[in-house]
Amino acid sequence: MLDRETLTQILDTLERFVAEELIPAEPRLDAEGGVPPELVARMAELGLFGMALPEEWGGLGLTLEEEIEVLLVLCRASLSFRSVLGINNGVGSYGILKYGSEDQKRRHLPRLASGEEIAAFCLTEPDVGSDAASVRSRARRDGEAWVLDGSKRYITNAPHAGVFTVIARTDPESRDHKGLSAFLVERDTPGLSVGPTDRKLGLAGSHTADVTFDGCRLPAEAMLGGEGEGFKIAMSALERGRIGIAASAVGMSRRLIDEALAYAGERKTFGKPIAEHQLVQAMLADSEAEAFAARAMVMEAARRYDAGEPCGKQASCCKLFAAEAVGRIADRALQIFGGAGYMRDYPIEQLYRDVRVLRIYEGTSQIQQLIIAKQMLRDGPSALRRH
Ligand SMILES: Cc1cc2nc3c(=O)[nH]c(=O)nc-3n(C[C@H](O)[C@H](O)[C@H](O)COP(=O)(O)OP(=O)(O)OC[C@H]3O[C@@H](n4cnc5c(N)ncnc54)[C@H](O)[C@@H]3O)c2cc1C
Repeated sequence: MLDRETLTQILDTLERFVAEELIPAEPRLDAEGGVPPELVARMAELGLFGMALPEEWGGLGLTLEEEIEVLLVLCRASLSFRSVLGINNGVGSYGILKYGSEDQKRRHLPRLASGEEIAAFCLTEPDVGSDAASVRSRARRDGEAWVLDGSKRYITNAPHAGVFTVIARTDPESRDHKGLSAFLVERDTPGLSVGPTDRKLGLAGSHTADVTFDGCRLPAEAMLGGEGEGFKIAMSALERGRIGIAASAVGMSRRLIDEALAYAGERKTFGKPIAEHQLVQAMLADSEAEAFAARAMVMEAARRYDAGEPCGKQASCCKLFAAEAVGRIADRALQIFGGAGYMRDYPIEQLYRDVRVLRIYEGTSQIQQLIIAKQMLRDGPSALRRH
């Protein structure tokens, strides 16, 4: 945890960086098909690749609440920028930090924190997405070693990653989550190959691809946590990640509202700025209310997480609400821009395409609904004054 003064300094520097360097670079994301390398270097310099990692491993050691404050600022710029460093701070380092051996931590965490090494997290497969417990990639024992075979799909950072957290089935008899284990697979492992970079609707600065493991021989020390702990590791990483995704949605909501507000003040129809038409005001007000609600939810879920209180249901509530809300907010912002919103000359068109993925990755909105309902049904009605 940082003292308030240091955090304020970080946020002030970040605000300037976002306004002066990231937002002006947004048009380059589509044009160049990636985040300009000098901006990746600046993000590393600011410590952003390791903001969630402890100081002893070279990170900034932020609590989740503090990380959320950073994300609310960072995600005023295209979500591509956050995507570049999100896996290093989240699902790509979480398993190592919480379940890794000292050796695994020493080998990877300092390099992940500095951005020198990029992480990837491999759960999804060609035939396995929402039903994550039915992973088919298979690791079989061969003496002390493991031999990994399988394919993973839509893996963020795959084209650049140095280390892959891979969820695979180690118990061939099992059909459910109990037979899954996690492995750390290094990029130069013989048998690991990365497919062509996917062509996507948005997030031009972030790259995904298939990853194939063909008889990859892994030493016993490549396993993360114990045998059979893969699903637990993946789900706990995703639980924390969902609060971060929701925070990104809130940061982007604010940006979209600000863009819409500024345009509504300038654009005139029927002799006055469109901001003076009450139907436009209604769109602005609905967006403001939803962004405020999402922000309050995210801060409360992060507070619970930092206090060690159970927050699986709350993390899913945040992810569901904030991701759906930013979809509506982006849609209203585009509507307020009218025809200009549909054109590439204005930022809304790109931001609108980017936010669509928030309802899909790290568990679709439907999967969040299932998680929330399952816990509600398990817990029964909440006691008075407890939620
Ligand atoms: C840009 C991007 C980056 C990604 N990065 C990664 C990554 O780094 N690592 C990784 O492992 N994965 C990654 N993914 C994959 C992502 O997590 C999956 O796409 C997501 O979990 C959904 O899985 P699916 O695409 O197979 O959809 P499916 O599971 O096939 O779902 C299709 C539809 O059916 C719905 N559905 C499915 N089951 C149910 C049900 N029981 N009840 C109601 N509705 C249901 C879903 O909500 C969805 O609407 C990424 C995806 C994208 C688009």
